[in-house]
Amino acid sequence: MARYVGADCRLCRREGIKLFLKGDRCYTDKCGVERRPYPPGQAGKRRPRDSEYRLQLREKQKAKRIYGLLEKQFRNYYDIATRQSGITGENLLRLLESRLDNVVYRLGFAASRDEARQLIRHGHFLVEGRRVTIPSFRVRPGQTVAVAEKSKDLTVIKAAIISSSKVEIPGWLEVDVEKLAGKVLSLPNREQIDAPVREQLIVELYSK
Ligand code: SF4
Repeated sequence: MARYVGADCRLCRREGIKLFLKGDRCYTDKCGVERRPYPPGQAGKRRPRDSEYRLQLREKQKAKRIYGLLEKQFRNYYDIATRQSGITGENLLRLLESRLDNVVYRLGFAASRDEARQLIRHGHFLVEGRRVTIPSFRVRPGQTVAVAEKSKDLTVIKAAIISSSKVEIPGWLEVDVEKLAGKVLSLPNREQIDAPVREQLIVELYSK
């Protein structure tokens, strides 16, 4: 599957905020945004014009980058969100949050969504006791997500658990660190999603 292979820190610098794409490094003074707090490229230090379109576009790009999606995948989620009842922008964020890679990351079993994707593809996670290797798998309320038995000693997972102890697990998830398992208690409401995204601007962009 196609994916972005450039430097993650450039994406944060482009959006002007920390998107936490690189795990532990994001919490150190090596963070690209802190070292070079201006957009990448030659025109980086020039102040861009703040048109309505530009603000909407940047918000959409930011959301895509936080969840590690390409345009087509992101647009598909938006289309699904428009067909659901309720507020489209919130539906969109809920759909993104319920992806298996996001749930694994939020439970603290991976240092970033990117790392979660890799681990899932390599078969290290079970949903309801069955191996799932599709990062976009949509996890439903009541379902359990666990580290596979053979993967419980993986250094990368242990390191992620230690580093995630600094971060709060959102209230819509429950984690049992001893068993290396978690559960989706419900779908998140907007207050439980800490993604720094103004989703209404994305809806306005796609509604044009
Ligand atoms: Fe973004 Fe993390 Fe790089 Fe900082 S270290 S710029 S938060 S990816």
